[in-house]
Amino acid sequence: MDFSKSAAAYKEARLSMPGGVNSPVRSFPAVDLNPIYMDHGKGSKVYDLDGNEYIDYVLEWGPLILGHADERVLEFVKQTADKGFGFGAPHVLETQLAELVKNRVPSIEMIRMVNSGTEATMSAIRLARGYTGRDVILKFEGCYHGSSDSLLIKAGSGVATLGLPDSPGVPAQLAKDTLTVPYNDPESVAEVFKRFGQDIACVIVEPVGGNMGVVPPMPGFLESLRKITKEYGSLLIFDEVMTGFRVDYHCAQGYLGVIPDLTTLGKVIGGGLPVGAYGGKSEIMKMVAPEGPVYQAGTLSGNPLAMAAGYMTLSQLKPEDYTVFHEQAKILTEGFKAAASKYGIALSINQVGAMMSFFFTDQKVTDYKSAKSSDLDRFKTYFAAMIEQGISLPPSQFESVFLSTRHSMNDVEKTIDAAEHAFRKIAES
Ligand code: PMP
Repeated sequence: MDFSKSAAAYKEARLSMPGGVNSPVRSFPAVDLNPIYMDHGKGSKVYDLDGNEYIDYVLEWGPLILGHADERVLEFVKQTADKGFGFGAPHVLETQLAELVKNRVPSIEMIRMVNSGTEATMSAIRLARGYTGRDVILKFEGCYHGSSDSLLIKAGSGVATLGLPDSPGVPAQLAKDTLTVPYNDPESVAEVFKRFGQDIACVIVEPVGGNMGVVPPMPGFLESLRKITKEYGSLLIFDEVMTGFRVDYHCAQGYLGVIPDLTTLGKVIGGGLPVGAYGGKSEIMKMVAPEGPVYQAGTLSGNPLAMAAGYMTLSQLKPEDYTVFHEQAKILTEGFKAAASKYGIALSINQVGAMMSFFFTDQKVTDYKSAKSSDLDRFKTYFAAMIEQGISLPPSQFESVFLSTRHSMNDVEKTIDAAEHAFRKIAES
């Protein structure tokens, strides 16, 4: 495959932007390759600057659940744009998207739209602190909740990919209010609550871990968080930026049957345009300005173009789509398992709905520690071999693979064939 145009574009970009990118993992820091510059996408496929075609499992890091350039979403965004990009005044599309989300997400009675997942979690944390009058928050190692100061402690996603324990620039004074314990470890949570429970404003958790690779909650884990937060008067926040409308029509909370006090959303809710949101019980949400004293605002929050993309995307999704995601994901995981065992490659697979990770380890992956037991050299060989065969994957072991409604059985079969070839390469190396 020829990547010369991508290589040239990257060389030029590095002169103007740190690492040539506006979000770290896009520069392929963990796979020893130059990043690939995509030019356009349609359905399940993306096409790079050099004209190479890929079956895409990145999907803009999750939002494009209907695939690239969905006609209905495009048409609605164009119609909306024709009337002006935004007004800084209320718009009926904001209410329409809010109502749609309320009807679909069990915990959400009221919602506030923002522009990213980072803003959603940062604002939900502020609200939890304002509501409880407490400062301490509890998060889990390897969970990623965006790049705001309080949440950049032992974080997953790009922070894990780059191997950064914590980020310089986060004030120590603030970091000390963020406690962390391993995912899927209710005993550690109970110990922390025993010592600091009266000061804990909230527990924030990915109800299905997605940013240390996919890590499902063990039976009883989320229930234990629900119970202990209630007992101590702390709020439970489900960060569903990744899992929202992806794991299930009713999000991870609907699928798993545990209802948090607050939920954060991003990715799919914006259908590919910049949207985040936080919502929950009315009693708590009414603390947000202008109804209450907890301040949070945004010039572009709820802008009509983003609302149009989100509204049309969520409107097109049907409960049956999730059955297909589950079936396709099962076929992929079975195919990968068979291919790995053919070549004696240790592969630990986690899958929940349309989210999957293939870890190069013989350990069962239940938390960040076990995720980190993966052989990252094997991941590099696998990633490069998949790219060469026209399969676009997230360029890190600590991320999730996504499906869209436009992925066909043919795509899935081609991907399994490519994986078999990649595993053979690993076995030979
Ligand atoms: N929370 C979770 C669970 C996420 O996966 C992400 C992004 N991957 C974020 C928050 C941050 O969202 P954004 O990148 O839109 O700021």
